[in-house]
Amino acid sequence: MRQKLVAGNWKMHGSLAANQILLTALASQLERLNGMRSAVCVPFPYLAQAQTVLTGSCLAWGAQDVSQYEKGAYTGEVSASMLLEFGCRYVIVGHSERRALFGETDAVVAAKFAAALVAGLTPILCVGETLEERDAGRAESVIAQQLDAVVAESGMAGLAKSVIAYEPVWAIGTGKTASPAQAQAVHAFIRSKLAALDPDVAAALVIQYGGSVKAANAAELFAQPDIDGGLIGGASLDVDEFMAICHAAQG
Ligand code: PEP
Repeated sequence: MRQKLVAGNWKMHGSLAANQILLTALASQLERLNGMRSAVCVPFPYLAQAQTVLTGSCLAWGAQDVSQYEKGAYTGEVSASMLLEFGCRYVIVGHSERRALFGETDAVVAAKFAAALVAGLTPILCVGETLEERDAGRAESVIAQQLDAVVAESGMAGLAKSVIAYEPVWAIGTGKTASPAQAQAVHAFIRSKLAALDPDVAAALVIQYGGSVKAANAAELFAQPDIDGGLIGGASLDVDEFMAICHAAQG
């Protein structure tokens, strides 16, 4: 039985003062929930604050990116072992904003995924198609290619230690959510594609949906058989919205 995971992606939002209020409220309210896992992925400078406020709570934390390199002359990069020192459990890898705006290729994403695993972090691997790719009937082949790059580098044993987030690019931050049926179809495709390589790993793999998830649509999405929680952008910055989404994941 897979346990649902709801993870917030704060993107480049927050301030010490605002985070303190948000993290404190989430940590105390999540105390009362069980049967699901939750996390927030915060900007690098706020990891220490997340560690201070969330240690001992039910809410895990993580980062939104990681270097593919272990250490060295890589100005501006942050290594997986540095994230571990701040208590991170998760790191988002291959978010579509990083792929589109910062030129991350499937090969770079696969290297980052591998670096996270080596350090003992759980990568949340984002995959998903653009609207053009969907309209051209290429959604599945794009996602297959994104997955293949990671499987080639880390194998199914590596994938077993990760979480996948299906995030249709056209649904991120746009207010347009994939319908539960549309999302379920892609989740089932991902699971069956991976099942051909290793049925046990595929059956146990947590596959989140991400793309304009909010309190109003979370329950319907999470009720789908292959949707195991969500990666939440905008709605993760609002205590009531995020809490309602966590409740929806609890069932
Ligand atoms: C995201 O950033 O991963 C995301 C899904 O954003 P939003 O929920 O705002 O669409």
